[in-house]
Amino acid sequence: MPAAAEREPEYGHDALVVCDNLVRIYQAEGIEVQALQGLDLLVHDGEMIAIVGASGSGKSTLLQVLAGVDAPTAGRARVAGHDLLDLSRGERVRYRRDVVGFVRQQTARNLVPYLTATQVIDLPMTIAGRPRRERAQRSALLLEALGVTHCADRRPDQMSGGEQQRVAIGVALANEPRVLLADEPTGELDSETAQEVFSALRTANRDLGSTVIVVTHDAAVSGQVARTVAIRDGRTSSEVLRSGDSHDALAEEYAVMDGAGRVQVPREYREALALTRRVRLALAEDHVQIRSDRDAEESP
Ligand code: ADP
Ligand code: MG
Repeated sequence: MPAAAEREPEYGHDALVVCDNLVRIYQAEGIEVQALQGLDLLVHDGEMIAIVGASGSGKSTLLQVLAGVDAPTAGRARVAGHDLLDLSRGERVRYRRDVVGFVRQQTARNLVPYLTATQVIDLPMTIAGRPRRERAQRSALLLEALGVTHCADRRPDQMSGGEQQRVAIGVALANEPRVLLADEPTGELDSETAQEVFSALRTANRDLGSTVIVVTHDAAVSGQVARTVAIRDGRTSSEVLRSGDSHDALAEEYAVMDGAGRVQVPREYREALALTRRVRLALAEDHVQIRSDRDAEESP
């Protein structure tokens, strides 16, 4: 007899970041906004992924949840073994300090006007109670790795937008987070400067050991990571995987199927075949067919 008790492993059991049917509903003046409507996402340790999607699709909400800033309404969110729906206040403080780093779009909001780059990178380490020598070494290492050693003693108003964002990445990385989250970090920058900031994110991923999740509108950025996840209406709708690491690497687009078997058929496909509310599915030997149900009515 087969071992009946052998259970399927839990969804995402080996992933660093797990979102399983994640829901976030905002209540604003009696109106409900479903920012996340059952979103699934897995990110593995060491990955660097881009998240794309139209304005209002729920990208920032997702990042706020993963950052431990916002609490989801329902579903499951786990990062490095921390269940984000079940954190005590103290655990949430430690989670935000030690497990995740966060970089915002607004360059000015990532730094402190009267602190130099070295001082602002030192701050989260001081709060974590790390010894002075170690803090000084880590600040210097980060400034060097991110290419902003020349900004060590400068305040934000003495740095360019790109330099400010690279220092902000340094602040986010100060306490060696497992996951670095960046919400449109190049949104306010020209394309050349954006490239420098993107390189700094890559350094964070490759050389400094953080898993990186970056939300971006910039096709030049999303084209340079191995996996791009698209969000539509608060759900993951498709993924593009690239083989190799260069700009012109071969890309293949996949639709995402959730745990209940739901798949989103792209609008172009639906329009081309006038697929509407009901379709016919058929199982072939090595694929599944989707046909308009009008075909069935027309055939004898
Ligand atoms: P994106 O970052 O993809 O542009 P957001 O996550 O910011 O999208 O927003 C998703 C949806 O949730 C939008 O409809 C937005 O208006 C709504 N939303 C975001 N934050 C709030 C909030 N604090 N209160 C009410 N609605 C919100
Ligand atoms: Mg946003």
